[in-house]
Amino acid sequence: MQGVTSNDFSSARHTPRHDLESSPAATVSAGPGPAPADLGPGLGPSPTDLLRRLRARGAADPVTHVERVPARAGVPAPWPSWAPEELRTAFTGRGVVAPWQHQAEAATLAYEGQHVVVATGTASGKSLAYQLPALATLLADPRATVLYLAPTKALAADQLRAVAALELEGVRPACYDGDTPRAEREWIRRHSRFVLTNPDMLHHGILPGHAQWSGFLRRLAYVVIDECHTYRGVFGSHVAHVLRRLRRQCARFGATPVFVLASATSGDPATAAGRLTGLPVTAVTEDASPRGGVTFALWEPPLLPPDSGSASPVPPGPSSPVPPQTHGDHDDLRQVRRSALRETADLLADTVAEGVRTLAFVRSRKGAEVVAANARRALDDAVPGLGDRVAAYRGGYLREERRELERALLHGDLLGLASTNALELGVDLVGLDAVLICGYPGTRASLWQQAGRAGRSGQEALAVLVARDDPLDTYLVHHPEAIFGAPVEATVLDPANPYVLAPQLACAAVEAPLTPADLALFGDGAKEAVDELVAAGALRQRPTGWYWRHRERPEVDLRGEGGAPVAVVESSTGRLLGTVDGGSSHFLLHPGAVYLHQGVSYVVDQLDLADGCALVHAEEPDWSTHARDVTELSVVSVRSYVDAGPVGMFLGEVDVTSQVVSYQRRRIATGEVIDTRPLDLPTRELRTVAVWFTLSPQSLALAGVQTADVPGALHAAEHAAIGLLPLMATCDRWDIGGLSTALHPDTEAPTVFVYDGHPGGAGFAERAYGTAAAWLRATRDAIAECGCETGCPSCVQSPKCGNGNNPLSKPDAIRVLDVVLTNLPG
Ligand SMILES: [Zn+2]
Ligand SMILES: [Zn+2]
Repeated sequence: MQGVTSNDFSSARHTPRHDLESSPAATVSAGPGPAPADLGPGLGPSPTDLLRRLRARGAADPVTHVERVPARAGVPAPWPSWAPEELRTAFTGRGVVAPWQHQAEAATLAYEGQHVVVATGTASGKSLAYQLPALATLLADPRATVLYLAPTKALAADQLRAVAALELEGVRPACYDGDTPRAEREWIRRHSRFVLTNPDMLHHGILPGHAQWSGFLRRLAYVVIDECHTYRGVFGSHVAHVLRRLRRQCARFGATPVFVLASATSGDPATAAGRLTGLPVTAVTEDASPRGGVTFALWEPPLLPPDSGSASPVPPGPSSPVPPQTHGDHDDLRQVRRSALRETADLLADTVAEGVRTLAFVRSRKGAEVVAANARRALDDAVPGLGDRVAAYRGGYLREERRELERALLHGDLLGLASTNALELGVDLVGLDAVLICGYPGTRASLWQQAGRAGRSGQEALAVLVARDDPLDTYLVHHPEAIFGAPVEATVLDPANPYVLAPQLACAAVEAPLTPADLALFGDGAKEAVDELVAAGALRQRPTGWYWRHRERPEVDLRGEGGAPVAVVESSTGRLLGTVDGGSSHFLLHPGAVYLHQGVSYVVDQLDLADGCALVHAEEPDWSTHARDVTELSVVSVRSYVDAGPVGMFLGEVDVTSQVVSYQRRRIATGEVIDTRPLDLPTRELRTVAVWFTLSPQSLALAGVQTADVPGALHAAEHAAIGLLPLMATCDRWDIGGLSTALHPDTEAPTVFVYDGHPGGAGFAERAYGTAAAWLRATRDAIAECGCETGCPSCVQSPKCGNGNNPLSKPDAIRVLDVVLTNLPG
């Protein structure tokens, strides 16, 4: 049997790491009283009328489902009796009349010394839940201190303003991060009792310098971890150990701080918070803040006629022509839907024309600019000047600029804003009349956070999810129960990942020699990791513990993945444009690659792997580039398996070897392949965790899959399975790789592998294995229910296929999955 091997590793793991999808928890005015930047009465039609008008525009009704999310009245609670008068007065002065029930409950648990996570919706006032116990303790005990951790400097700065505005005597809140001037650092260490920082600074600065921080750590009463759902995957696993290192240092100084965590709504937050801190954590999840009713529509742009799809991915329409996305995800594919960007731009123009204050969430900056530009153009065509009331928002604005945007929306000078999720950490806006979500944001948790921007008490609002041409989006708009009937995802992290644990133990050993008691603190696998560090000569065992042997500290980047980042440098100016993580650099920065940076196009002249830099020049060719790689995978060990007759389901360790071997140049306008050029790049190795299933050739033959079609069947099933995995775990498809083959030497059978794209695994494959039947059922349904004939980006095609989406067989993929599901228990 010819073993055609197809692989799909995500090249463009390009998600901006600071681009969080969460609410600004710095909302002080969270209790009854004025909501932050509340926009006053609505200007436009009711959501029902608005939706009726929007869906009546085209020939076919694009709405696949409408869900009514009812309004909710707030449940206020009295101020806890332990909260001092001074503090209540300070909050009342900032507009908080009384806490909501969940705030009071979490605050009291924390005040009583329990570790607590409050996991509630957007703008539900999570910050009050930790500010109350922390500040009450600072007022009661003039020596106590509080450490606050946020995933970004911007959020810490917002929170600093909120705490400082309370003007409490002797608290002296201060940010301590990379931007803090040297001259101020010592003062902060000595005098601030409420230090706001981020995990990177804790890891690189505070813990290594613990001697200077001994006074602060000795008196540490609370550790606040804001937006803790952002600590997921490999980054989350690193942060989990940074927190264990913090706990260890506190314990050395005799302190046992209480941890208070704030999370977006997430599945099983107590378990995730427990994994993150290593402590038993109580969850408060009942959101008692008020919410306006929302009409939530699922919107699927229509399929284009097959011939127009190949001529131009986004054919010009009667109004607001949207240029194709420069990095066309599916510019070589025959059958496409109308682009979600274009659909969103039209919807934004229509809602703004109706006088409806609308926020459109778009996944990329470039996309947000395209949506805003096209909505503006369409509005100006209708009424000259009307386009001025739409703007694009990207991250990185100054605080003043963000406040100006809020003000403009508040006063109605601005009616439409297209934004990346960056807005969620910068602009304090709730109570919009309509929210458009261009493409599923990856998790139900994020979806609800974005939709949560719509609606205010007593006022109905509209939310619309516009599906992109992608298996997950398509599945969701046809399976509303997967959105409205399912709990939000659990945050996945795996502190036992040896690739995280070993370097973190090395960092800990530099801070203080490791003792046997510490091994329990760092959890499963710590002993093995220490033994390996000893064998590698990094640690030396002495009677008093394990000592770090080197002069220099180990270099450990919490956010680093897949090797050292590669710097992108403009040759003519020497300007550093940005960095690309090592794992993606071969795909994105090979010689000849077209590289986009903030909407500007560059071409790579040279990739210097030894120096970790790529030299580029500005150029806007009319083609895009698409790297191809060759991947081999070998099974190292099997951790767990299910023997289901002709079908086997496995979880284990694998070695993935890949090499980027060539790239295609394709015309942006038509997707036409210009040529394929060879590349000479070294191979790379990845040891990680994979889930895989095997089928016997006989069972495939019985199911009607011809031998020649087996590779295409497996490959198509693999693509769709990768596309649907985010339904089960908080990953996106760029976190995952896949490989399928009609005969694998290690399994000796037709096999589909899906693996974590991070060294040592990040918990995603493990999660897939644990939910295999539900995951593959959703995959099977997504393929079967897609309206296309031979496969499209909505079902079995992948935008990042290493094999150019060839071979693929849609009908045979359904047969493959039927065989698996018939035999697999559960
Ligand atoms: Zn399809
Ligand atoms: Zn593929």
